[in-house]
Amino acid sequence: MILRRLSQSIRKQDWFTVFVETMIVVLGVFIGLQVNNWNAERQRQASERDYLERLHRDVVELTQRRATYAEGRPVILRALELLTEFVNGEREDLSAAKEYVRSAVPAQRDTSDEELDSRFCGLMDGSSYLTPPPSELPTATELVSAGRIDMITSDKVKLALLSYLQQVERSQEFIEVSQLGVIELSAAFPDLFRIRYVMGVDYSQGAESHPVYDCDYEAMAQNNAFLNALNRNRAQYHGYVGRAVQPASDRLAELHAAIDEAIGIEHEGDTETAE
Ligand SMILES: [Zn+2]
Repeated sequence: MILRRLSQSIRKQDWFTVFVETMIVVLGVFIGLQVNNWNAERQRQASERDYLERLHRDVVELTQRRATYAEGRPVILRALELLTEFVNGEREDLSAAKEYVRSAVPAQRDTSDEELDSRFCGLMDGSSYLTPPPSELPTATELVSAGRIDMITSDKVKLALLSYLQQVERSQEFIEVSQLGVIELSAAFPDLFRIRYVMGVDYSQGAESHPVYDCDYEAMAQNNAFLNALNRNRAQYHGYVGRAVQPASDRLAELHAAIDEAIGIEHEGDTETAE
């Protein structure tokens, strides 16, 4: 339309109309391109936000799943240390360990001495279980494997994400090496442990059983091979908590804070609420 009118104006040598109509064409093309760019940018921002929101959901969920590790493992480590000191002959009895567990774990406040004795013995046996904590962030895996990490424009989030993924890899390697250095004590020293299983009576809750442990502390204190193995386990557990579990949880918390900042999420106080 406009082009036909333009050619008519050229034939009539109506230069003013030629100028105006040329400007209309040029402006139209210019505005069209701008709208295109603007749309593309809006789409990119929308999908970046979509990724960040998904990543946030993953991080919140993973933080909850890791809680038994991030919060529970340091408590187990401290109890194991107090327990080991007793078996090594550096403490009179288990009262310090019991006091610690009752004050650190609210659910254990009213646990009987007898029950705690069994738990401690089980804890010593469990000192060889260096299980890797959950660490998967599906959205992060998708972004990295598809080479789309640059979708995220916030340097802070990108850096925090890469540093978390790197730490997870380091933690995994550390745990694998540590697992080679521990000994399953009840299997290696069967005479020092007595393990029985109590079956749950309420079958509506599922037929659950829990182990009841009994340790021969006197014989343990006399057995140098056992003491060596126990002390080695404790040292490995210390590294497992301090160099594998904790740093990954710290990086995860930093990533969470960076995402919160990038998409403007505020959590009430310190309590984490999944929105
Ligand atoms: Zn958050």
